[in-house]
Amino acid sequence: MEIRVLGCYGNSINGFKTTSYLINDSLLIDAGAVTEFLNDDQLRKIRHILITHSHLDHIKDLVFIVDELVMMGEFNIDLISVKQILSIISDDLFNNRLWPDFTVIPSKQNAIIKLREIELEKYTEINGITVKPILMTHTVYTVGYVVKEENRGFMLTSDTGPTKRFWEVARQEEGIEFIIADVSFPNRMESLAKLSGHMTMSMLIEHLERYDLGKMPIYINHMKPVFIDEILDELTLTKRDNIKTLQQGITIKL
Ligand SMILES: [Zn+2]
Ligand SMILES: [Zn+2]
Repeated sequence: MEIRVLGCYGNSINGFKTTSYLINDSLLIDAGAVTEFLNDDQLRKIRHILITHSHLDHIKDLVFIVDELVMMGEFNIDLISVKQILSIISDDLFNNRLWPDFTVIPSKQNAIIKLREIELEKYTEINGITVKPILMTHTVYTVGYVVKEENRGFMLTSDTGPTKRFWEVARQEEGIEFIIADVSFPNRMESLAKLSGHMTMSMLIEHLERYDLGKMPIYINHMKPVFIDEILDELTLTKRDNIKTLQQGITIKL
């Protein structure tokens, strides 16, 4: 499996881009920063978009992806998530007010966007990649994912505050080689992190210890760019070499 990190930060500013992971060129996980990096040929290869939640920093490029595909004469892309998240996107984004309702254009049977519901904690296969959504703790309905190809893969928390089930699954699930985890704020902002459904470095470490995942390789993502230096200093102080920051633009091969 190849995971290309298009964007991995908690805001889009000064060259830092928001969450988008491209798996094997054809499955996109979240659409925070896509169309400024991919050309038409690369966009055409994307057949499936898996969504973690409806916040704009994770879905904003859906509108440009769909527009470009239509202009190229391409039809049908699967937008995949649990029912609650797909409902928000269809009601609040593709609603003919913010953007045309591409779930019925040009017709309901032959629409450009096909909504594909998957179920919490059930494995679903998408073009050779197996995914399993897990309910997280955020300010809107949010899922993290197990993502595997041939029994090896990774997990990502998406945006989350303190939570239990994800880390239980992480401890039990076989073949997980690393976890991409939310560390948005520095430790001094723990109360804001909790209020806004995010984590700090010390909250992450507390979870790793509690669920016996102290040695699991971790990539932190969703750092607010304004706090990067502070979070990196805190990471150095932990003296844990299994925790690294995810870098925009890299490709991870499994
Ligand atoms: Zn969010
Ligand atoms: Zn976010």
